[in-house]
Amino acid sequence: MSQERKHQQGCREVLPGVFQIRLPLPGKKPGPVNAYLFKGVNISLLDTGTFQTTANLRAALHELQCDFADIHQVVITHGHVDHYGAANRIIRQKDSKALVGVHPADKRRIETGAEASRKTYHRFISLMGVPLGYRLGIRLMSRVFRSMAEDCRVHFALNDGDKIQLGDYTATVIATPGHSKGSVCLYLEKENVLFSGDHILGHITPNAFVMLERDEELPRRSSQAEYYASVAKIENLSPALIFPAHGPRVDDIMGIAAGYRRSFLVRQQRILAIVAAGPKTVYQIVCGVFPELGGKRIVLDVFLAVSEVYTHLQILCSDGRVRMERERNRLFFQFQPSAR
Ligand SMILES: [Zn+2]
Repeated sequence: MSQERKHQQGCREVLPGVFQIRLPLPGKKPGPVNAYLFKGVNISLLDTGTFQTTANLRAALHELQCDFADIHQVVITHGHVDHYGAANRIIRQKDSKALVGVHPADKRRIETGAEASRKTYHRFISLMGVPLGYRLGIRLMSRVFRSMAEDCRVHFALNDGDKIQLGDYTATVIATPGHSKGSVCLYLEKENVLFSGDHILGHITPNAFVMLERDEELPRRSSQAEYYASVAKIENLSPALIFPAHGPRVDDIMGIAAGYRRSFLVRQQRILAIVAAGPKTVYQIVCGVFPELGGKRIVLDVFLAVSEVYTHLQILCSDGRVRMERERNRLFFQFQPSAR
């Protein structure tokens, strides 16, 4: 492993010819974005940070003797604004030759800014029993998020198993849905090193966000189930070193994955205990699971908590431990004592 060399703009060489660039992101969690520049025959940028940190990205690249126009491809780990926000700026640069690649399941997010319509989101959070004030707040918040990225054309698909040249390295695309539908990791097989996007993080358990469809009020896919299947996929690879898109590098995938599973079970037990006391909406469960909700990020935190509780309930419903019922425009979740 190469000696890690630090540069002024928060860049460091993490493998020979591969540079991590830390880009600011508002809020404490998940913390600054790590983009990675692969120099060499096929100059590649893995993730871009937000639109607002385009200048930081440009300055960091200059320090590494690279310009937007030198980049051959921009590879996006998933369709969240902090990962693709500056991609359009790069491809619109004069003399740019860069092509943008992403998994097909997140293409729509990057090209249009959302995977489902605003109406779909609004209907979903309304079914969850979220009070009107927060629903309006969540609408406003989604506008703020959209301002953190420019819509960007996608040129090529990253499908599971594809081989792709990143700088002087050969990487295999590993589809790891869960955090988003189209999340991918990039695996350097020869080096046994993984670039994990937000799929594996060392300092927090990644969110398995609710996966809404374009015009359906409830998701078809089970984010938590897909997320843990994708974690197992990475455990099977057993990479010696993981470079995530936020936070420090990870060198103990088994320990990290075990920690994720423990926090999953703790959360699941808490939800079961709350619904055992009587039927509840998702928002009522959220208030029980997260009694400390409050402060500046309250609207974002309410949305994250609703998404998390609902995705847990999807699993509990499919296991038969909880039953979902609809009363007009609200869903209620009820404990199912085992039948026998
Ligand atoms: Zn993300």
